[in-house]
Amino acid sequence: MTQTSNHDHDARALESLLAFWSEAGVETCVEDQPIDRMVPIAPPQRLASPAVLRPSASVPAPEALTPEIGEALEQAKAMAAAASDLAALAEAIAAFEGCPLKFQGARQAVFSRGDPQAPVMAIGEGPGGEEDQQGAPFVGRAGKLLDLMLNAAGLHDRVFITNTVFWRPPGNRTPTLMEQAVCAPFLERAIELVRPKMLLLVGGASAKFMLKKDEGILSLRGRWFEWRSPSAELVLPALPTLHPAFLLRQPAAKKRAWSDLLTLAERLDRQARPD
Ligand code: URA
Repeated sequence: MTQTSNHDHDARALESLLAFWSEAGVETCVEDQPIDRMVPIAPPQRLASPAVLRPSASVPAPEALTPEIGEALEQAKAMAAAASDLAALAEAIAAFEGCPLKFQGARQAVFSRGDPQAPVMAIGEGPGGEEDQQGAPFVGRAGKLLDLMLNAAGLHDRVFITNTVFWRPPGNRTPTLMEQAVCAPFLERAIELVRPKMLLLVGGASAKFMLKKDEGILSLRGRWFEWRSPSAELVLPALPTLHPAFLLRQPAAKKRAWSDLLTLAERLDRQARPD
């Protein structure tokens, strides 16, 4: 190998290593201001008990809600209900202080992108690093793959995209059920306002939370379920699929996600066809 090609090789190896760290959530090594990491982290506002924020395999039972979580939930419900359109809902989310993720290093609230009148609402788990920077969901590598697949399935301009939580979990970890639960009134209000015909649940954390299921995504994906709003006023068909971040790591699984998108597109077109 010549010196130049060695150099090129090293640069590519470095780029690939940086991409790996970035995907793992370590995309900022040096901030503009120094950070004193020895300062104890302040307890999140309103949601005081860390015990209830631990991830759990099952859906939180009402009795698992501490008074603080209960208070944050009530506040989220009131703020979400008062939002008469998506712009007001985005403002309400940005102003909400009841989700601890807001105080764990997130730069901003990340709500939605796409057509507010779309017939499909895609719901991911939560923003990652790129989403946190840009303030829009699914705009990083995984989002680009999702867009490519939606495009190829003829769904690109028929999807409104959001997440189960609106702040980036530290290190891109999976959001806990309690974090999802306090954000849920905003998500439910978004569904009410957009009134999509169906939901695409992107990844296990979204599918399990939205459907209140304990099964893994590999068993849930590709099957139709019913999502019911808390008042049971809205009942929508919901299809879980694999998360594009998983597909980036396991390209062989793409055909299963592709088949899910075709299943969704077929049902949508079936509904759109006159009898
Ligand atoms: N993964 C998600 O689940 N949502 C995003 O917005 C980005 C990555």
